Amino acid sequence: MPHLIERIADLIGLRDRDALDVALTRIVWDLLGPGARAVAILRPVGDEADTRWLTRIRFSVGQVTPAVNHEIEAPSRLPKLCDLPYHQDTIACGQIFRHHGASALTLFPLSAEHEGLGVFEVETELPLMREAEHLLGSVLRIYHNFQGLLDYGERDALTNLLNRKTFDGAFLKTTIGAQEADALNHAERRDGAKGSGHWLGVIDIDYFKRVNDGFGHLIGDEVLILMARLMRSSFRSQDTIYRFGGEEFAVMVQANGESDATAAFERLRHNAAQHRFPQVGQITVSTGFTALRSDDTPSEAFERADKAVYHAKRNGRNQVCNHADLVATGEVVEVAGTPALAEFF
Ligand code: GH3
Ligand code: MG
Ligand code: MG
Repeated sequence: MPHLIERIADLIGLRDRDALDVALTRIVWDLLGPGARAVAILRPVGDEADTRWLTRIRFSVGQVTPAVNHEIEAPSRLPKLCDLPYHQDTIACGQIFRHHGASALTLFPLSAEHEGLGVFEVETELPLMREAEHLLGSVLRIYHNFQGLLDYGERDALTNLLNRKTFDGAFLKTTIGAQEADALNHAERRDGAKGSGHWLGVIDIDYFKRVNDGFGHLIGDEVLILMARLMRSSFRSQDTIYRFGGEEFAVMVQANGESDATAAFERLRHNAAQHRFPQVGQITVSTGFTALRSDDTPSEAFERADKAVYHAKRNGRNQVCNHADLVATGEVVEVAGTPALAEFF
């Protein structure tokens, strides 16, 4: 037990979600002892109409380190929710599920506000003793509560979107991931094959001051909450959405090429313009976006997207502008080696 408390003390010292999942998996594995066959965390991902199971982490006999999956390269290859009915039941009922076949399967419901629900899967040679099950349940509750605390520090209180503070870390993780993927796909890239890229969009609500001035701050706040909801439904679950302050948002989108990225930002523009906001009526957004480069810094990429937003604002608003197009047509001049604006963030 003292050993377990020490491990948990280490767990709650972590800030990185991947490291947290690895630590949790290891703690549970060690608690299970020699009868353990596999432990895994599965989470539902993807669009509402086509939700799939992503095995975020799995650790089984003979493995040295648990591996974390966070990229969803080919969601269509992942199992559908109904393909794993026991897991689906665990989430639906919010209760522990037990199945005893050739080995014993125990599924614990996991929930975390930022990622929705999930399942912690435990496979053992023999069914878990009630005491062990209770202990695992308690460890998972600590993990769940700790995730809630991390959310509290990383999320904007009004919209529940990620806050600006978390942007740099996520950005660097994405670009480092892209560099690694680049290195792996180098041969294919030279053959002309195009890998999936990441894009940064900056979204600014048009004439938002008029909403506050005309209808009051509370209605303004409601517009921000509804706009955040429209963003969640317009982008895919693997895309990360940030409130940068006021009525300005940033989105990191994973897309297969420029037209795919444009379509994602256009989807939001269209959905916002079509939405009827209570009392206010129509609200539109202006978006600027840019492809992330492997050697990008967060401030350089943000600056490119922001220049494209500025252009959208000056050209009638309610539109999506791609920074690369503006450079190609000479409407925006890119200064090579723009110094990083460290104070920007
Ligand atoms: P533009 O189309 O050029 O973007 O015009 P705008 O009116 O949207 O932009 P401007 O920057 O002039 O005004 C932004 C307004 O957003 C001003 C500020 O009062 C309001 N605002 C900032 N944060 C909040 C908030 O949390 N709640 C509410 N209700 N208003 C906010
Ligand atoms: Mg605005
Ligand atoms: Mg603004």
